[in-house]
Amino acid sequence: MLDKCVAAALLLFAAQALPAQQHFDGAKALAYTQQFVAIGPRWPTSPGHTQAEAFLRNQFQRDQVEEDAFTANTPIGPVAMRNFIVRFPGKKDGVIVLASHYETNYWLRNINFVGANDGGSTTGLLLAIADQLRAETAHSKTGKDKMGKLEGYSVWLVFFDGEEAIQSWSASDSTYGSRHLAAKWGRDGTLGRIKAFILADMIGDKSLDIQRETRSADWLVALMTQAAKKFGYDRFFFQTESPVDDDHLPFVERGVASIDVIDLDYGPNNSFHHTAQDTMDKISARSLTIDGDVFLETIRLIDLR
Ligand SMILES: [Zn+2]
Repeated sequence: MLDKCVAAALLLFAAQALPAQQHFDGAKALAYTQQFVAIGPRWPTSPGHTQAEAFLRNQFQRDQVEEDAFTANTPIGPVAMRNFIVRFPGKKDGVIVLASHYETNYWLRNINFVGANDGGSTTGLLLAIADQLRAETAHSKTGKDKMGKLEGYSVWLVFFDGEEAIQSWSASDSTYGSRHLAAKWGRDGTLGRIKAFILADMIGDKSLDIQRETRSADWLVALMTQAAKKFGYDRFFFQTESPVDDDHLPFVERGVASIDVIDLDYGPNNSFHHTAQDTMDKISARSLTIDGDVFLETIRLIDLR
């Protein structure tokens, strides 16, 4: 058995073995998650939801942000919801969408459900990815091009509202924000510009095991597998497969190449999922580093395609 000192030294060695500057800043993503989750429950119609919206608005003051407010037709009547779309323009014609959801479940409003992993961790992940994209665009700023552009495709970050059911999950009581936006982008022609739609859900889990979601596009799964291999992260990705109903489906149904990057194995027998146990101590900077590394590398590979 290892004594505590040896174990601590080994951990320190393992941490140092990865030069920090070559990796995505998962610690920063975790810090964003912490700040966001500190708001508390943020189910539609709650004061926490209004605070969550204000938090996102504040984070993206310097960016091209669109607030996509709409009214969802739900089992409890019309509910005001709001997606956030943050656009980082690229030099190539076409768009890569990175999406997540930010709200918590209305039907869990009577417990202290803060969704640290579910909705929290991927909001923090996208915020830290935004920092990276902002730095890349700033780098390319010239006199003529004051905004700056990414080298590859435009990247749009989407924070969906209303992914969770209001009462109980069904095709009509779930994924309100993504159904609204996919329909809107279908009408105005935006969908035709999307090269890839990448959804992140519940991937802050300390024990990361991302499923291969069966409706996801094969070529996107293959590119993400290749991206994971580059960092030696193969074992965290696609070791099992299952269909998952999530915010990617409205895009899949409209023919957009999509992938749901989800770990639906959260705690022993998934016992932390949708319970008051979904708290900050269950998620890690390490998992968010893995996610960020692989997402950014996947974007790079899509740009090269
Ligand atoms: Zn959920």
